[in-house]
Amino acid sequence: MLRQVADGVLVHESEFLKSNTVVVHGGSGVLLIDPGVLSDELVCLATDLREPVVAGFSTHPHWDHLLWHVGLGEPPRYGTARCAALIQAKLSEPDWQAGVVGMIPEDIAGQVPVDEVFGRLTGLPAETVRIPWNGPAVRIIEHQGHAAGHAALLIEEGGVLVAGDMLSDVLVPMLAFSAADPIEDYFAALQLIEDAAGDAEVVVPGHGSVGGDLRVRIDQDRAYLEALRDGRAPDDPRIGPSAKRGYEWVAGVHDWQSNQVTQRRESAETS
Ligand SMILES: [Zn+2]
Repeated sequence: MLRQVADGVLVHESEFLKSNTVVVHGGSGVLLIDPGVLSDELVCLATDLREPVVAGFSTHPHWDHLLWHVGLGEPPRYGTARCAALIQAKLSEPDWQAGVVGMIPEDIAGQVPVDEVFGRLTGLPAETVRIPWNGPAVRIIEHQGHAAGHAALLIEEGGVLVAGDMLSDVLVPMLAFSAADPIEDYFAALQLIEDAAGDAEVVVPGHGSVGGDLRVRIDQDRAYLEALRDGRAPDDPRIGPSAKRGYEWVAGVHDWQSNQVTQRRESAETS
């Protein structure tokens, strides 16, 4: 079911991890951001859209943001140049499907279409400011906080920030520990978002509830990162007894991240 969150902007929330697909109405069709996640949801989306899909966009190269369905047509599907390069490298491996399926939670793996249209992105050159399409201006805010090649999108008219996997009300920041300085990258990403889109009226996270509380979410993510950096237990509603039902496991993600930070610090000190 598609729900309007701003003029010409609709959102579909998946059963999987409150994943949000965003539909933006343009002059000759729609822009589709991060379609997903389950096969029946993609079929439903293809049926519900009365206008053609004229462009797609994947916010980052994680499996749940790279899905597609033939019923959505064959428009150009964009990502940042870095995002597209990463997924193209993956797709060139002979056993890429098994590798991707291995990342999907077992209970839903059979319902996720890892097929011939999975991840077929066109990279937009790094200097691209807006998505090339016939519709409202959509600014690309690229950063490496959650994943290399990640982009948040700002639908300038109406002030809607499509955050990708940032600024969630159910998930704490999940860092890209393959990076040299993941915490610094994440702080930088939040700063970029605040500078470019701090006044956005609506925030659509990759996973979680659509909100009108962008600045509160930025502050909450910063506070989490500061605690993670300083080795303190975060006072964060997304972990502990106040976590939303079904999201109790997020505390385990925090523990894992906290261990990663400690290990990195220790190995830096001994080297
Ligand atoms: Zn992700």
